Amino acid sequence: YPITTDMATLTKEIEKFATNKKLEIETLKIRENYRKEFIGNVSHELKTPLFTVQGYILTLLDGAMEDKNIRKKYLNRAGKGVERLIYIVKDLDMITRLEAGDLNLHIEKFDIIELVQNVFDLLEMKAAKKQISLAFDMNYTKPIMVSADKERIQQVLTNLIVNSVKYGREKGTTEISVENLIRNKVIVRVTDNGEGIEKENIPRLFERFYRVDKSRTRKEGGSGLGLSIVKHIIEAHNEKIYVESEYGVGSEFSFTLEKAE
Ligand code: ADP
Repeated sequence: YPITTDMATLTKEIEKFATNKKLEIETLKIRENYRKEFIGNVSHELKTPLFTVQGYILTLLDGAMEDKNIRKKYLNRAGKGVERLIYIVKDLDMITRLEAGDLNLHIEKFDIIELVQNVFDLLEMKAAKKQISLAFDMNYTKPIMVSADKERIQQVLTNLIVNSVKYGREKGTTEISVENLIRNKVIVRVTDNGEGIEKENIPRLFERFYRVDKSRTRKEGGSGLGLSIVKHIIEAHNEKIYVESEYGVGSEFSFTLEKAE
């Protein structure tokens, strides 16, 4: 390669070959940078909880073990750190599979209202800690059947509702609505009256590890992967996700789903 006898064509072929090679090298470089950045981010995310756990263990070994109350408190905190590590690793596993297109969707028909209710039940305690109420914005008397991967959509709802609680104000509300859209689609909205997001941060929200306020959200215990997982899952369904937010007023995350007969 390239096989030709004509000199002009040969020169052109060689130039094309060189350009292709250059492009190939550029692509490899971009991929390599992406990989490096990912590994950098991952180790950074793991470092904080690992050091926390190590800190508690060292303090216990250093004598804190003698006191029964302190021992219990520190073991509890170390346990929380390990729990956080497990969440991060699970999210990492999920994002890696989603990015590799390695996640087979199991499409089934289910009632989205019932699924939201299940997620509410699971998150009730978490919301109650901040006295945030989780509710539908209207009475749904009939099921609304959709076609999607139920488990993944449960994860989408969980991530969005957890965020609305994390970034919600004390005694605030998170409301869910499900509405018919044109052409066999429904739109599910998760609306909070929390802190909202400044305009300039909105375009970056769905990036891996992106957080508006790093120190604050670490304290809240997220991996910074929640929204990027949500976006991948919705896009894997060939559906759309939207965000509208006003700083100091609240946010609304919404996504479309296919209606089932
Ligand atoms: P995290 O683990 O930090 O919560 P996410 O990917 O779920 O990661 O969210 C990314 C960032 O988007 C959050 O750190 C937060 O700054 C912002 N965010 C997400 N949901 C909301 C919301 N409902 N209200 C305000 N800010 C939000």
